[in-house]
Amino acid sequence: MGLFDAKPSQASNVLPEVADCDRQLTALNQRREELIRQIGELYLENNDSTAAAGTPYEEFLKEIEKLAVETLTVEKRKLAVQGLRKCEECGNILVLDSSFCNKCGRKLEPLFVPTEDNPRICAKCGTAYAEGAVFCVGCGNKLE
Ligand SMILES: [Zn+2]
Ligand SMILES: [Zn+2]
Repeated sequence: MGLFDAKPSQASNVLPEVADCDRQLTALNQRREELIRQIGELYLENNDSTAAAGTPYEEFLKEIEKLAVETLTVEKRKLAVQGLRKCEECGNILVLDSSFCNKCGRKLEPLFVPTEDNPRICAKCGTAYAEGAVFCVGCGNKLE
């Protein structure tokens, strides 16, 4: 038997008691992680970054709030590229060009608002456009 045979044969000969302990340790660790996750969810339900200002949780909450904004933007864009949008009041799915929700009557504002970082974006689908462009390459919207 060569030197290199030693390890694999050892690994396959784990005592049943050891394997049993490993299974229990894995289950205990999973349960612990699940409880920690639940603590996090509970904390989130009761706090935002303002409530957590000055605590070690503040940065985590700010990051989570940023993720929520990004998620909303991607969800809006996902619908917009299919020619659709969602009423923010009632959740009704409408054609992108709608001015009012046909379910709750809410007036629909532009979906995407230009910012300093991103001054030229299509109000309907959020696609960036070059200076002087007339139509959006993302949705065909006539640009202001
Ligand atoms: Zn609506
Ligand atoms: Zn567009």
